[in-house]
Amino acid sequence: MKSARAMKVLIGLTLGVGSIPSLTAAEAAAADPCRLPGGVLKSGALAARSAVECGAVGRLVDAGDGVPLPVQPPGSSVTLDVLYPTGARTYTLTTDAQGHVTSGGQAIDSPTMFPDLPGPGACERDSYVVRPYKWYWPWLFRTTKGTALATDRQADFDAAARRATANITQGRNTCGLRGKTGAAGGFIGHTARQGNFVYADGQTTCGANDYQNVIDEGDLPGGFLEATLAWTCTWAETHHGVTMAVSADIRMNGSDYNWTYHPSEDPACDPAFPPDPQRWRYDVESVLTHEVGHVYGLVNLSAAEDINQTMFPGIRRCSGHMRSLGRGDVLGMRALYGRR
Ligand SMILES: [Zn+2]
Repeated sequence: MKSARAMKVLIGLTLGVGSIPSLTAAEAAAADPCRLPGGVLKSGALAARSAVECGAVGRLVDAGDGVPLPVQPPGSSVTLDVLYPTGARTYTLTTDAQGHVTSGGQAIDSPTMFPDLPGPGACERDSYVVRPYKWYWPWLFRTTKGTALATDRQADFDAAARRATANITQGRNTCGLRGKTGAAGGFIGHTARQGNFVYADGQTTCGANDYQNVIDEGDLPGGFLEATLAWTCTWAETHHGVTMAVSADIRMNGSDYNWTYHPSEDPACDPAFPPDPQRWRYDVESVLTHEVGHVYGLVNLSAAEDINQTMFPGIRRCSGHMRSLGRGDVLGMRALYGRR
């Protein structure tokens, strides 16, 4: 009896709500162009209106695949690069000078589960793709105090991060391409801060730009393919027609993968052992070199022929092959930064 009565009240309420004269969604939108639903906004929700006028800067927008990114202020963008052992995803959210928000992305799946295919050599390909931004001053980064992978010594991690940055800025290669690129940057110490990755609406994503450059390790979320190896967020701004990177953070996945600093000497990488996931190691310096390539404006390569370029997202276990840049990687850095 009591529940029947409750049900009746509930029905009454439901009908009541439904019967209140209300605007259709289209009428409401016409009356208030800034009327936005709660939660993560759909891509395109702000394409025709100003995120500033609508107070939507900082709101999360689905930048593709359900991955949310926060709306940046006018004239700025945020790019998230997600690296898997067998592929990569990129998501960008850009707010133009008028406050209109657009999203873009790229998905690459490596041709084989473990890309041990020889393919064309690293020096046989000229391929590169660059972002619409670059650094106009050195990318000076810190590592979060306590960050360690593979060993418990942060000095090992710091050294790998320093080398990775030098690999990119100096265009380290075995292709006979001499001379450093004009890019600059390096390690400047430790910080109590973490990388600018935030947990929002059940998802991990890039935060608002904080003008700090931080590399750390943490538990990155799984994706559609498998757990991610590393994330890089890069924030860029356009001033007087010039688009410049203004901060970039990298997070390595210390939870789901095993790492090494010396893939050729690591006993777990002994090829005599049968392939056992528990023994797979990923080379910290290789993965960081690829990620630092994103920081400086290099885009993932997608053609299977580019499998031996550092910017091809196919990470071989127990291999340091990405430490040395391919010909295309060096040409890409030169295209952005020139050479000196
Ligand atoms: Zn990548």
